[in-house]
Parts: sequence; structure tokens; C-alpha cells
Amino acid sequence: MASIAGTLDVVQIRKDFPILSRKVHQKPLVYLDNAATSQKPQVVIDALTNYYQNYNANIHRGIHSLADEATSAYESTRRAIQTWINAEKPEEIIFTRGTTEGINLIAYSFSQINLAKGDEILISGLEHHSNIVPWQMACERHGAHLKVIPINTKGELDLSGLEELISERTKMVALIYVSNALGTINPVKDITEKAHKVGAKVLLDAAQAAPHFDLDVRDLDCDFLVFSGHKILGPTGIGILYGKEAELNHLPPYQGGGEMIAEVSFEHTTYNVLPYKFEAGTPNIADTIALKAAIEYMQTIGFDAIAQHENELLSYATRQLTAIDGLRLIGTAEKKASVASFVVEGVHHQDLGILLDQDGIAIRTGHHCAQPIMSQLGLKGTCRASFAFYNTLEEIEFFIHSLRKAISMLR
Ligand code: PLP
Repeated sequence: MASIAGTLDVVQIRKDFPILSRKVHQKPLVYLDNAATSQKPQVVIDALTNYYQNYNANIHRGIHSLADEATSAYESTRRAIQTWINAEKPEEIIFTRGTTEGINLIAYSFSQINLAKGDEILISGLEHHSNIVPWQMACERHGAHLKVIPINTKGELDLSGLEELISERTKMVALIYVSNALGTINPVKDITEKAHKVGAKVLLDAAQAAPHFDLDVRDLDCDFLVFSGHKILGPTGIGILYGKEAELNHLPPYQGGGEMIAEVSFEHTTYNVLPYKFEAGTPNIADTIALKAAIEYMQTIGFDAIAQHENELLSYATRQLTAIDGLRLIGTAEKKASVASFVVEGVHHQDLGILLDQDGIAIRTGHHCAQPIMSQLGLKGTCRASFAFYNTLEEIEFFIHSLRKAISMLR
């Protein structure tokens, strides 16, 4: 039996996540679908119920005590995110529904004023659909072209032609930080530097980076960065868009309505200051408040300890998976976060997923919202096991055992 020498007390940590002690098909749940969404610790669940039980009120507009308490809790999440990702000001943090909405917001507002016929947007061959489609739509609206950084067979970006791909025509480089389908960690800082040299702006999709390591937007020097709360122990329906103040100030609003205005008349409307200009209507108050509990929880565990534990899980799983006859790992980049994607010769990925579920094991099968990667690699889909800091080596051993059993049944 292998063991992890790290500093995490995973037995204790798992007690904080009520769902991890449930059974599925009479077997202990082994949750290896963390890239899709993470599980939630009790402190996050408590923060949600505490808001609804004790100070539910709409924010910003009220003068009564409940409105005041709700507003201050909501705004304190903004400051917690600002501190965590090292943004200069809280005004640079915009609350969205998630990564998808953050990208759509920028794709819409940025292209309104910056994209013209013949301009180019550069993405990569590793993107999630949510960082492809909004840019395709923007290109269609403005007569611009979508360019793609290709990938190699290991699932890494092939940067050999980058000099030709980034030019004065490039207005935006929108890049996935960590691949959800393959786990590849991209050299986003280097690419950002190159993009800035030609005056292009950079948006980083950090949906799969935020759960695994500290984010520092000033060090990355990206213009925009997006991620989702539900992948970092927080609730669904709340996400973060970071933007440099000067860039956000420049952009037109994405949605109109209450809260995003300074003054309204039938003839003319002036817009509110940041961040409210981009937060039209009643926001997702409860989930925003609970997101702070999630971030504080992750910070208490510590991102270094998280990364160390997850890396050990990944290398152990990789060794065990590679030893299985007929199994091929998909995505073997030098730098990877905790995702193990694979296919098994002669076996459909979905059948494997169904049999693993019978043993209480949750993995994801399919194209992982990244169909272009699958077609580049000549695949219809893969099995994907993705690990979090609350997973254990024992769970991976059981997963491998169950996988071997499933393969022998299906062959
Ligand atoms: N980008 C990446 C890399 C993702 O992994 C995901 C979700 O899996 C998204 C974007 C979309 O996130 P959401 O569905 O939370 O908006």
C-alpha cells in the first residue's frame, strides 16, 4: 500500500465534507469528478443557510440592518477574492454566474469597441467550448477571424508558430490556463508577454487553475481572468471576472438594469462605477457570501499543501493506469494538474463509466466540453478521473481495482 508523505490530514479534512461519507450503490462514494465540480465543506453549506436564516435581504439599496449585514457580507467576499488573487483593487472583481458568463461578458463588451473587420482573436487548441463559442460569435458579429494555437500529441501547446500567430491584427489572446480535458498547464505568462508586445489583450480561463494553485493576477499580468466558484468548494451560480481597472473602465456594460446605472431618464442613461457597472440586477447574494467561506477554507488548508497532495495522487494514478494492458493515457504534458484522461482499446468510455458507478466511483466520460481536442486526437471521448485534495491513495487503489474488473468484463 502506497502512502503520501505530505502535510495534509486528509482523514480529518474529509470529515468537513458531509457528502464524502455517503454511499452510492451501497459502496462508499469515491468522487473523482472534481474537474466538473468540487464537493462542498460544511462551512460553505452553513454560510448559505446562515444567510437565509438570519440576514436574508437585498443588498446595496436598503437602509435597514438586514440589508446592511447582507451588503457587508457580499462585499467582504469581493475583498477576499481581491486579496487572494492579488488584484490591486476590489473594484477589479466582478461577480458573474461563472467562467462561462465571465468570458461571454468580455467577448461581448470588448469586441463592441475593439474588434473590426480583419482583426484576429487568438485561442488555443485546448480550449473548453466556453472559451471558443463566445469568441466565434464575436468574430461573426464584427467580421474578425479566430486563430488557434495548435497542440502536439502530448496535449501541450505547440508554440513553434506563435510568432506568426500573434501579430498587430491580434486584439485578444484568450487562453485556458489548465486544460479540463487533459490537465495540461499552459505557459500563460510567456504568452501574455508576447501578446502585450503587439498590443493585444489577454484573457485567462482559470476555471481549472483556481482549484489547484494560488493565482496572482499582477504576476501573470493578464488583463482579464475568469473562474467559477463551484470548482473551488463554493456554490454553483457564482463566478469571478477579474479585469484591470483601466480595461474594465473602458468597456461598455454587458447587461442593462438596476444597480449598473448612475442616472436614468428616457433620453439618456449614465452608468455606475466599477464594479457595479457590470453587475446589473439583484446579484446571487447567498452564493457570493458562501464563496468567501470556500476560499477561506482553501487558504486554511494551504495551496502548497493542496498542490503537493494532488501531485502525489496524480503520479500514483498515472503509474497505476499506465500498467493496465490496452490503456492509453490521453494528455501526457510535462506540466499537468490533477487530471488523468484515458481510453481503453476495444472498450467504450461510457461503458466504463457506468460500471465504475456501480462500485460507487464517479468519473466523467465523453468529450469534456472540448470537442476540438477530441477531434485533433482522433477520439470521440475519454474517461477522466480528476482529483482533489480530499481524495486518498486508497480511493485511487479502489478505482484502479474496479477499472481492471470493468475492463475484463467488457472485453
Ligand atoms: N473553462 C474550463 C477550463 C472549464 O473546465 C469549465 C468547466 O468545466 C468552464 C470553462 C466553464 O465553467 P462554468 O460551466 O462553471 O461556467
